[in-house]
Amino acid sequence: MSARKTPPVHPDLESVLFTEMQLKRRVRGLGRELKEIYGAGEFTIISIINGAVMFTADLMREIDNPVRLDCVRISSYGTKTKSTGVPQVVASLTLDIANRHVLLIDDILDTGKTLLLVTNLVRKLNPASLRTCVLLDKQGRREVPIEADLVGFKIPDKFVIGYGLDFAERYRNLPCIGVLKPQLQNPPAW
Ligand code: 5GP
Repeated sequence: MSARKTPPVHPDLESVLFTEMQLKRRVRGLGRELKEIYGAGEFTIISIINGAVMFTADLMREIDNPVRLDCVRISSYGTKTKSTGVPQVVASLTLDIANRHVLLIDDILDTGKTLLLVTNLVRKLNPASLRTCVLLDKQGRREVPIEADLVGFKIPDKFVIGYGLDFAERYRNLPCIGVLKPQLQNPPAW
């Protein structure tokens, strides 16, 4: 009989916050919450990329409503691990969202500047309704007054990677979410 396989944990992680299984379970729960909100009705998902790609893809597969999908690309942290400066819209929406029910999805709510920027942008386009959903919420880090309607997990002020979240564009493909080792948090010469 072969030895029982333990899932490989990436060597650059100091710790794992959420395993693949825990993420799956919570995303399924969020799908149920969306069902309660929207019933069987249609809504338009706006995903803030790149960070929310995996979360968006998995959450979409937990619902069977008719949905439309659009993305907004926001300038990222670069290679730093703390929000600095003002986020900018790099690529905006292409779908018409006037009189549509809109669900805005992001990977993580930190200072709140990104979600505030995008909610303001969306509101100007006169949606029928606007709700926000984030997988992770670093509540203690807020610099602007905004909260998400749906939150996957509240987390402490640690720099996390995996499941779409990057450091210098690496680690997005990790199936779990973990804390990057502090000694790796200075941009290496990649
Ligand atoms: P905010 O504008 O709320 O300060 O930051 C939101 C964005 O910053 C997220 O969409 C994400 O791209 C990035 N971010 C914030 N905290 C983290 C983190 O712990 N890890 C990673 N990889 N990105 C983060």
